[in-house]
Amino acid sequence: MSPLLAETLLRWYAAHRRTLPWRQDRDPYRVWVSEVMLQQTRVEAAIPYYHTFLRAFPTVEALAAAREQDVLRRWAGLGYYARARHLHRAAQEVVRRGGFPTTAAGWRALPGVGPYTAAAVASIAFGEDVVALDANGLRVGLRVLGLRAPTSDRAARAQVEAALRAVLPRGRAGAFNQALMDLGATVCTPRRPRCTVCPVRAFCRAHREGVAESIPPPQRRPAKPLRRFVAALVQDPSGRVLLVRQPRDGLWGGLWTFPYVEARGWPQARRALQQLLGSPLRRCGPALRAEHGFTHFTARFHVVPARCVRPPRVGRFTSSGRPTLPLPAFAARLLRALRGQARVRGERRGLPRLSTGSTRRTGSWRSRFRAPATPRSPGTRPRKRAPRPR
Ligand code: SF4
Repeated sequence: MSPLLAETLLRWYAAHRRTLPWRQDRDPYRVWVSEVMLQQTRVEAAIPYYHTFLRAFPTVEALAAAREQDVLRRWAGLGYYARARHLHRAAQEVVRRGGFPTTAAGWRALPGVGPYTAAAVASIAFGEDVVALDANGLRVGLRVLGLRAPTSDRAARAQVEAALRAVLPRGRAGAFNQALMDLGATVCTPRRPRCTVCPVRAFCRAHREGVAESIPPPQRRPAKPLRRFVAALVQDPSGRVLLVRQPRDGLWGGLWTFPYVEARGWPQARRALQQLLGSPLRRCGPALRAEHGFTHFTARFHVVPARCVRPPRVGRFTSSGRPTLPLPAFAARLLRALRGQARVRGERRGLPRLSTGSTRRTGSWRSRFRAPATPRSPGTRPRKRAPRPR
């Protein structure tokens, strides 16, 4: 790579940098929170969460002093909740040590801080001369060097890092790293890179050879396995919904959601749910189906309306209108559906039927709720099998 590339890129960055809320200054706390949020999350999706989070926890001291439940509540909807728990623990560690680390090595010693985040914060907030290579920067590097390797290729990544280190402008690593990120996000995009307006096209081998679009080569992802779960949608006589706090090491660790177990059907699930709740359960309606994409598998939920014969020994009944507990997006959407239906039908008692929910994408997850195809008439037996999702 030519050192001229760095100069050209920095000039372009000065004129075209994205205006982002965490770029107003070089406050290490703000830079750090933004970098953690941007792992696995698009910039546009992260911005509202960033503002909410910073309003609730404006300083590292405020974050360190907060209860984990409050931190998770402000994170709810962003997914990958281990990030929030690590951020919280790391904030406590920073306060205990009396200040932020100033080097990438120091940041790496904090819970949950990986090499990219450490280098990004150290270079942007403290000016350390280190390369921070995110997915955007890596793609730019592979193309500039003309390496026809997938992004998972460690040798290619090391080659890109070494090439960038060699041209890293001393004292301006933070701007250089952000320039690479911005170039990858706005010009050297995964599909249809805009080479004609690219400031570094004169240095780019992929452009010269006309292969920019085929670098990195597409990777075939193995199909995700399907896992089946059954959740109980339990309501008390006033229509509040039972939520149970999930174990820290499970799915949605530390968040609150409907009691659920991994099972293939209601008979099997009922035994385990009864054990969990300490009460016999009576099914009182046909199941809803919902799918949720986790990183390594797809979860298919049957959500079965049920009543507890005795007060459950775990969990909390909460209003579907104003849940104050940290909920994953999956549970929040079902609660919204319940609330909408209750409002439409004026039902405050018993089980509202759910209407078909909307489908939307946020980051890497997708979940869908479906109402049963045929609502059950009074007196009929519940369907044995729920309808297949579309
Ligand atoms: S010239 Fe094209 S392929 Fe090369 S860095 Fe610029 S946008 Fe990417």
